[in-house]
Amino acid sequence: MSWVAEETPEERTRRWQAREAERADEKRPVEAVCSSCGKKMKEGEFIAIQGKILCAECYADELEATMDMGAADGSGAG
Ligand SMILES: [Zn+2]
Repeated sequence: MSWVAEETPEERTRRWQAREAERADEKRPVEAVCSSCGKKMKEGEFIAIQGKILCAECYADELEATMDMGAADGSGAG
């Protein structure tokens, strides 16, 4: 009785993500461009959120917009 232990899709995905994370760490961008206003920033000046790169100002705008959406969604009729 011989069988090969197969990797489950979950295991494979986790292993792949771990490897990608290592590579991403090696090739960390030193500079980035704000995806909202196009401003150039150095490392540490930008915020990565939901797959976007934002400068501090646009990040603040994004936060406000998100909070507005949350408030509208969770409003209760009184
Ligand atoms: Zn910006």
